[in-house]
Amino acid sequence: MLKPNTNYNNLKDSYLFFNISQKIKAYLQENPDQYLYRMGIGDVSLPLCDAVIKALHEGVDDQSIKERFHGYMPEVGAEFLRNAVKEHYAANKVELEADEVFISSGASDELGDILDLFDKSSSALVIEPAYPAYVDANTMAGREIIHLASGKDNGFLPEPNDDIKADILYICSPNNPTGAVFSKTQLKKWVDFANKNGSVILFDAAYEAFIEDEELPHSIFEIEGARTCAIEICSLSKTAGFTGTRLGYTVIPKQLVVAGMNLNSMWVRNRTTKTNGVSYIIQKGGAAVFTPEGQKQIHENIAIYKNNAKILSEALDKLGIWYTGGKNAPYIWLECPNGMSSWEFFDYLLKNIQVVGTPGEGFGECGKGYFRFSTFGSPEDTKIAAERLVSLLSK
Ligand code: PLP
Repeated sequence: MLKPNTNYNNLKDSYLFFNISQKIKAYLQENPDQYLYRMGIGDVSLPLCDAVIKALHEGVDDQSIKERFHGYMPEVGAEFLRNAVKEHYAANKVELEADEVFISSGASDELGDILDLFDKSSSALVIEPAYPAYVDANTMAGREIIHLASGKDNGFLPEPNDDIKADILYICSPNNPTGAVFSKTQLKKWVDFANKNGSVILFDAAYEAFIEDEELPHSIFEIEGARTCAIEICSLSKTAGFTGTRLGYTVIPKQLVVAGMNLNSMWVRNRTTKTNGVSYIIQKGGAAVFTPEGQKQIHENIAIYKNNAKILSEALDKLGIWYTGGKNAPYIWLECPNGMSSWEFFDYLLKNIQVVGTPGEGFGECGKGYFRFSTFGSPEDTKIAAERLVSLLSK
């Protein structure tokens, strides 16, 4: 008899964004003339940069000319884009081979698909608060999940300890939702832990382009020993505004071997079976991100989001509210003032100053009492939201 995957029954309903939209809807019904300052969004608001748009147009034109037309692309990614990513890492002093880079349609797809490499009996450690897809993808696969809570005491950057027994270790740095970033010393502890225990780190580097402090690592492969224990998953979504265009890349070193099986070779086999590659046009646009002109332009956009972060951080500094993130990440994670719960603070901001953020408890139990601001909104709205926040909370 056909049986559904009953692991789906174990998924917790994600009430977070549903609740937020219900509360907003109810508020706007009662107050139809109010404008909302949306500091909760995880999507970018600036368009693709000119270098990317030009390359996308060229890609479209290529598809109209017999000699330049592309049919199926290599499943693992176009050579020109794999090389561009390799060169980008080399500029950050990380040496890769082009065939250690796999081009994807984005980090979400990869975070789910990559689990094919591991047996169902392997457990997954999720450092919380966390991007909800880590828990959900492993729940669907029926894996044991170990929740490692982090908090204010460790700056939301927990260290491994010998009590942890887990096979797959999720590390997201810069972190969504906390904006906290692991230092090289902190990451080295996780790398040593993984090598010692035969675990594999899935390093989510979706926000690496927001790092500005020179000593902080953009890639897990800046850490000695990572080539034998880590996979890095990255995305052009937040780096270059590809949330709707879809492009990412995954790095699997050739030295990554689990119980005699080479994960790079396994992933080649997986991709050649389960995908027919990413569109030529999109890869052509993506390659433009890694040109000097593309890098300059994407960093101009990132600077706008960073300025939003600065405005919000200054408001919180003025108010004496504890927070992390903002400097090397597009998220600010703050402690709700006056002992309010995440949802109380959400309602308080919505009703009094029409500012919308994201309650921290949507990212795991230990997010209770915390709140996330995103810096992807418009500079005008961010400035007004920050002013309103200061005048409301300094009363
Ligand atoms: N990883 C993290 C930590 C994210 O916050 C997101 C999106 O918000 C993703 C991955 C997904 O990125 P993509 O748009 O490439 O699927």
